[in-house]
Amino acid sequence: MEEKKDYRAELFYEQKNGYDTLTDERRAELENYCEEYKRWLDISRTERECVRNAIELAEAEGFTAYVPGMQLKAGDRVYYSNRGKALLLAVIGAKPMSDGAVIAAAHIDSPRLDLKQLPLYEDNELAFFKTHYYGGIKKYQWTAIPLELHGAVVTKDGETIDIVIGRDKSDPVLTVSDLLPHLSGDQMSKKLGEAIKAEALNIMVGSVPYADEGSDRVKLAVMSILNSSYGITEADLISAELFAVPAFDVRDLGLDRSFIGAYGHDDRVCAYAELRAIMDLKEAPARTAVCILADKEETGSDGVSGMKSEAFEWFMSKLCASDGSGLLDCFANSICISADVTAAFDPNYPDVSEKRNAAKLNYGVGLHKFTGSRGKSGTNDAPAELVAYMRRVLDENGVQWQMCELGKVDQGGGGTVAMFMGNRNIDTIDAGVPVISMHAPYEVVSKYDCYMTYLCMKAVYGDK
Ligand code: MN
Ligand code: MN
Repeated sequence: MEEKKDYRAELFYEQKNGYDTLTDERRAELENYCEEYKRWLDISRTERECVRNAIELAEAEGFTAYVPGMQLKAGDRVYYSNRGKALLLAVIGAKPMSDGAVIAAAHIDSPRLDLKQLPLYEDNELAFFKTHYYGGIKKYQWTAIPLELHGAVVTKDGETIDIVIGRDKSDPVLTVSDLLPHLSGDQMSKKLGEAIKAEALNIMVGSVPYADEGSDRVKLAVMSILNSSYGITEADLISAELFAVPAFDVRDLGLDRSFIGAYGHDDRVCAYAELRAIMDLKEAPARTAVCILADKEETGSDGVSGMKSEAFEWFMSKLCASDGSGLLDCFANSICISADVTAAFDPNYPDVSEKRNAAKLNYGVGLHKFTGSRGKSGTNDAPAELVAYMRRVLDENGVQWQMCELGKVDQGGGGTVAMFMGNRNIDTIDAGVPVISMHAPYEVVSKYDCYMTYLCMKAVYGDK
């Protein structure tokens, strides 16, 4: 009998719950890492805030802003902020850029309610902001929860005014109303996706009228608050990027504190893992390490700060020029970890997953050979050679990983930045943290998986 058991162990692929092999020492590291991530995430609720806070951490770790023409040598640490909304960091390697870079790309934008460019109006002596949702949301989840207002207003003379209302506990919060159950007869008989209309996602902002006899007195009172706090007028809101995001604090979740509950894990949980991993490189890696914090993934990666933007080519070509390498040679020899979250198997909704290939909480960083939908449409399909490379590097470094698929075939699907990197002739694979309630105002991840994703990025950056 014993012999047969060994035979199974030899031939079968078996996965273990991460906590079964976690040492006390690693457990302590895991908790430390997650505490630091929680602190960062709590104050990083927009791409601009992520970039700002990432630069602050990176500068403390010796990174400096890249200046065109800068001569770079092995071990140098530079970053490039793309319009304050996306960030590229690099640690220059010992080998020339033509030998390729080791790239990790995560996104720092998350689903939310964007204010329209003419947001403020009054209806029945109440003031509201009109919104246009950003990314894939289930609209019913965004009503009757506390919201904060984050973003930037840019005035005609070019001054940028940063706004954060609601993060400080003494600030007010905002909300979108929902109907009371008593009067929801019609609403409750509608399909879930149709019960809340996008144009009903209007944010309550005030009710006290301005003390005069004119029209729109509540709107005027709200505008006067914004004017006295920030010196802005209604016209300035036209050149603003203001987002309503959930006002939930980042908290330990579960009686055993094994999870983190927060808004915006997708994909700041992978962004932070990459950022920490590249900052951990204390000396020159073999090949240049590049960390990308991208914007606009949730709307398709288009635009100047998205992963389709040639801002990436701009930065990489500068690094290449510094040692006389060709950009296309660099791309041909590079690898990219598209670091994005995946769907964790949820026992409350087992029907949407195929259990054998679904990501499990506490089973480590989730690799995806492919994503996409309907017969792998819209996917980067990582070459088997790259999957094999990842198996080796992760196993050698004691990183627990799992191979996953995003739900049952034909159930839906999704994409990441992977295909935009693959299209550039860069070998690319998806790897990230499994998430419960992805894209909800409050998402859940396992601390163990967060830590393993960080170790994954470290292992890949550090590989000779
Ligand atoms: Mn994502
Ligand atoms: Mn997403």
